[in-house]
Amino acid sequence: MNLILMGLPGAGKGTQAEKINNKYNIPHISTGDMFRLAIKEGTELGKQAKQFMDQGELVPDEVTIGIVQERLSKDDCKNGFLLDGFPRTIAQAEALQKLLAEMGQTIDYVVHVDVPEEKLVERLTGRRICPTCGTAYHVIFNPPKEEGICDKEGSQLVQRDDDKPETVKNRLSVNMEQTQPLLDFYDKKGYLVKVNGDQEIDEVFQDIQGFLDK
Ligand code: ADP
Ligand code: ADP
Repeated sequence: MNLILMGLPGAGKGTQAEKINNKYNIPHISTGDMFRLAIKEGTELGKQAKQFMDQGELVPDEVTIGIVQERLSKDDCKNGFLLDGFPRTIAQAEALQKLLAEMGQTIDYVVHVDVPEEKLVERLTGRRICPTCGTAYHVIFNPPKEEGICDKEGSQLVQRDDDKPETVKNRLSVNMEQTQPLLDFYDKKGYLVKVNGDQEIDEVFQDIQGFLDK
């Protein structure tokens, strides 16, 4: 099963991706997580990505397409994959079509997690992540068992630099401009399904399973 999760920052893509990964056992490929890891490890890729991410801007297409191509060629993607945060531009979507065609594969579903814009600022500014495993919590909507500590790793949770209120607004507007053409692109191809992301986390997952189990 080859899936793409779409939705604005804070819509709950990462949260749902973890649940999909647990149930269907397909790797969760998040370009944002890959860039954050590269920054943490101080690699060349991390250096390239950081300057854009800190501004809430997109990392250039050729860099992003390159890392996805490399990741999809790994063995664990043979039975499917779940892309989260990619593609973000039409150029990326077209590159992905080409890549999948070369691999003899196609996309099964593009799941659009739809959340009204006004809900996203509070989701993003209240988000806290585990620096070890990447799990996202929310100070109000999805708190860890012990305040500020990851349930799984015991690590101290951190706020992403780009989740600070100054960056959030720019990220949302950059994304909004870019998301609609992608939704249209996949709708025309017949891959797009929409779920209401403005519900409890488990209710959103129920709706996603409704499509995937068909
Ligand atoms: P994305 O990957 O789309 O940017 P995340 O999965 O990281 O979004 O979720 C953004 C924030 O909102 C996190 O703090 C997360 O705990 C919280 N969250 C996710 N889904 C929901 C939901 N259905 N209701 C309320 N808060 C949610
Ligand atoms: P969110 O969905 O919460 O905005 P991500 O973790 O998906 O966050 O992305 C964080 C940042 O990483 C983006 O603001 C952007 O700078 C960079 N990034 C992630 N995916 C892409 C992509 N497909 N193309 C370009 N830049 C990307």
